[in-house]
Amino acid sequence: MKESGKKEGAASSSSSPPCAACRLLRRKCTHDCVFAPYFPPTQPHEFANVHKVFGASNVNKMLQEIPEHHRGDAVSSMVYEANARVRDPVYGCVGAISSLQQQINILQTQLVITQAEAMHLRVHHTASSNIIESQAKYFCDMDMVEHTSYGDSMRSC
Ligand SMILES: [Zn+2]
Repeated sequence: MKESGKKEGAASSSSSPPCAACRLLRRKCTHDCVFAPYFPPTQPHEFANVHKVFGASNVNKMLQEIPEHHRGDAVSSMVYEANARVRDPVYGCVGAISSLQQQINILQTQLVITQAEAMHLRVHHTASSNIIESQAKYFCDMDMVEHTSYGDSMRSC
């Protein structure tokens, strides 16, 4: 789907198609168009949602107030928020944020439980390895130990 060249009013001198914003707003896309770097003609839905939620003139104003090196991030944030608002008209991205917050809470609880289990296992392991060590010493001290007596000492612990 390369430019067909004979698009209605699209600047006859320039060969590049208008950006998604100018196409939707049916206006001429000039070389200094503020939308063009962020809303390429290949992704028309992104601008459609942003326009629906924020309004093109507000987006225009916001972009001009922001330093150029921050505009890309601002646009991706607006696109995200607009898409979320279209998907969920009541909560928008707040719905996504609160569901992620819930996941964080669940995972933090699991982490605390797992850390407690790890601590318990470590303490248990240290205690049992101490017993084994003392039993090994006991075993080495006695030259001739029968299995039954060793078994008895295990049972008595
Ligand atoms: Zn444009």
